[in-house]
Amino acid sequence: MAGAELYMFSSGTLGLGGYEVPVPFYLIRHPQGDVIVDGGNPLAVARDAHAHWGKLADLFEVQMSEEQHCVAQLRRHGFAQESVAFVVQTHLHIDHTGALGHFPDAEIVVHAAELDSARAEHPHARGYVAADFEQPGLHWRTFTGEHDLFGDGSVRLLPTPGHSAGHVSLLLSLKRSGPVLLSADAVDNRAQWEGRQPPRVLHDAEDAERSREQLRELADEVEPLLVFGHDPENFAALKHAPDCYD
Ligand SMILES: [Zn+2]
Repeated sequence: MAGAELYMFSSGTLGLGGYEVPVPFYLIRHPQGDVIVDGGNPLAVARDAHAHWGKLADLFEVQMSEEQHCVAQLRRHGFAQESVAFVVQTHLHIDHTGALGHFPDAEIVVHAAELDSARAEHPHARGYVAADFEQPGLHWRTFTGEHDLFGDGSVRLLPTPGHSAGHVSLLLSLKRSGPVLLSADAVDNRAQWEGRQPPRVLHDAEDAERSREQLRELADEVEPLLVFGHDPENFAALKHAPDCYD
């Protein structure tokens, strides 16, 4: 492997604003270790969404089988669970925490403000379920500001607060495919990207607008492949594992 490779998966779908949207997660293979980004829906949701999400399960109708959990999908595609060195959390909302607790040797990388906010929120109040991130044995690595995960510019974590308090988006730099922007929930879909819809905000609307603007300015500059957080059309048009961007 000469450089990093990006694999895209969906862990099922959620009903969001009247649409059924994908719940993506990503695997980045890097010479210094593999990275899971978010992990999608937790396994417990495939078994009994109401038991795990409480009343949030009424708001977000989930379609997910156990085979769609991130660990099952990695296994099916022949990726070794042990080679995952990092789990990067764009944020800690209920449909992004599927990897937590399944990669005991990995460091969990999250913006400090996100972990603080998730822990401060009343359980089930603002899109968090404490059972996801209050498990024993999670090795947290928090950061503030921008974070260059491997120090080589290939995986950069950019703070994009608003949707949640410490939300980050990822800018990847791939040898052949060039820059890739994983907006995560800072921008759910193309309508939000193009300003036809406001960002979906669970924390701070002004921050969310500012974050979207920053991402758009960045995109004007580097012209990345755009990968939105929950966009059926955008996601369908991308390459999915076992295909990859490299
Ligand atoms: Zn979210």
